[in-house]
Amino acid sequence: MPVAGIRPGTPEQPADLVVRNAKVHTNDPGRPQATAVAIRDGVIRAVGEDADIAALVGPHTRVVDALGRRVVPGLNDAHLHVIRGGLNYVMELRWDGVRSLRQALAMLREQAERTPPGQWVRVVGGWSADQFAERRLPTLAELNAAAPDTPVFVLHLYQSALLNKAALRAAGFTRDTPDPAGGQIVRGHDGEPTGLLIAAPGALLLYSTLAKAPTLDEADKLDSTRHFLRELNRFGLTSAIDAAGGFQAFPENYGTVMELARRGELTLRIAYHLFPQTAGQELDDLKRWIDTVRPGEGDEWLRLNGAGENLTWAAADFENFTEPRPQLGAYESEFEKAVRLLMENGWGFRLHATYEETIRRDLAVFEKLAAEGLFPQGNRWLFDHAETVGGESLDRIAALGGAVSVQNRLSFQGEAFVSRYGAAAAAEAPPLRAMLDRGLTVAGGTDATRVSSYNPWVALHWLVSGRAVSGRRLAAEHNRLDRAQALELFTLGGARLTGEQDVKGRLVVGSYADLAVLSADYFTVEEADIAHIESVLTVVGGRIVHAVAEHEGLAADLPAISPEWSPVARFGGYQASPAPGLAGAAPGLAGARQADRVLEAAAASDEQYAWRLARGHAVPGQSAAPQDPCFL
Ligand SMILES: [Zn+2]
Repeated sequence: MPVAGIRPGTPEQPADLVVRNAKVHTNDPGRPQATAVAIRDGVIRAVGEDADIAALVGPHTRVVDALGRRVVPGLNDAHLHVIRGGLNYVMELRWDGVRSLRQALAMLREQAERTPPGQWVRVVGGWSADQFAERRLPTLAELNAAAPDTPVFVLHLYQSALLNKAALRAAGFTRDTPDPAGGQIVRGHDGEPTGLLIAAPGALLLYSTLAKAPTLDEADKLDSTRHFLRELNRFGLTSAIDAAGGFQAFPENYGTVMELARRGELTLRIAYHLFPQTAGQELDDLKRWIDTVRPGEGDEWLRLNGAGENLTWAAADFENFTEPRPQLGAYESEFEKAVRLLMENGWGFRLHATYEETIRRDLAVFEKLAAEGLFPQGNRWLFDHAETVGGESLDRIAALGGAVSVQNRLSFQGEAFVSRYGAAAAAEAPPLRAMLDRGLTVAGGTDATRVSSYNPWVALHWLVSGRAVSGRRLAAEHNRLDRAQALELFTLGGARLTGEQDVKGRLVVGSYADLAVLSADYFTVEEADIAHIESVLTVVGGRIVHAVAEHEGLAADLPAISPEWSPVARFGGYQASPAPGLAGAAPGLAGARQADRVLEAAAASDEQYAWRLARGHAVPGQSAAPQDPCFL
């Protein structure tokens, strides 16, 4: 096959960067596999075999030998609270990937000791008790013992928050503090708050408590965002669609990411949405934004993509699967006004909707507007989440030109979902196959950083295996995706939601030069090992933004993390554990730090083995490690 992009007789300029000796998965049905990619000016100029691409290697071309590794298009997380995540990243102790509560508490204890007075230790999502060998949350007594003086706030999904005594004092909770609507401050026999806050079912109590903790200054917010984007690059992520979020006001909380874009320092392409913050004032906010900005404004690094995932607060059905489905009041009239306003002004939107009951009510509003010719009018729109959407609603979504963005929230909440709705419902949640069979555009994401981990490979593992982090297989076989399909949701899927499918999500001539060289071959590793994949080399717009293992040193160093007490400075972000069967796992860590981490993981693994042995789940005499892949 002739090499794409080189026309006979046309003199081609040399490439800036060539990746060769790779197993390239292109996402291009016309040329699904290749061994080399040539990049110039941030764009892919040729895809083909090494011998063909050799003609594009000039004296100044950087040639990367992929050593036979798998190369995929850069991943795109279609639902990530990346802007808010970046503003907070270096202040958070991340339990993402931690495999035992013992290790989690050891990290917390150490962090409490290194946190200066006035600051808090915050564990804000990205984990679930289901991932721990112990299968339980920390107790309040354990938090108070680990941190007698430093405020500690631990968020568990959208379900609860645990505060130690110092945090109760810092947040100002007393016996006289009333329970807010939709939230419960749990009290002891003496009437004093115990430290347990419950979303019942709304998460506002949890978030508003977290909002009492100090924030970073402007310089550290820039630095924190830089480090978070690089942490995402570590997993091969090159694009994300931001879903906005509570306590993420526009324009104030977008200044940091805009400043990085202005300086050309983004290492992740971000399409963002705008989310009205205050109940009762949603229409005023939307009107003001419509007058000042337009979807599509920006460039390929930072661009406005529409409104949502919240449009009006009364229509939001928070997912908290430990609680009954929220009973929403009559929200339609304000909601209709908001959607009408968007449609009349050429604004697309994304809409958070967890349950079929909500989606039906939303669709009735959309259909009413469609009867007036207002829908879809070429505006891109989509539902987010849709765990329990039914077939008839999917037909109605298709008829209105909508799309769906799905996340692996059940990786972390699967056990709670099964307890409430049963295994049969979980087997179809969300109904991926029914969505794809209808030809709907489906994009994959994580919903990180508070409800899920930002590690996209945990989500890809869920899409392929149907397994939660507890190891329980949730999805029915017909509702699991093959690896190429799952990857398509995490590459082209997101590109379609931003109208960039012609320049993003495939490794073809003319596409943005966004790709990842993987630590293990996604297409051939054991299913359980998918969750352990990382990138050894990530390229965005032709720039190397992450390089470890044999490529260490190719990416520019970031400034050291500030403040120096940052949990990320000590522990890093996602806690990789060695993947069974994967030599050289945890490629993101070099030298002593990696050795350190492997020892910690081994200790956690030993403890888990002893626990399993004591309960008859393991066979004495067989070594712990091969039986302890973290998702089995
Ligand atoms: Zn949502």
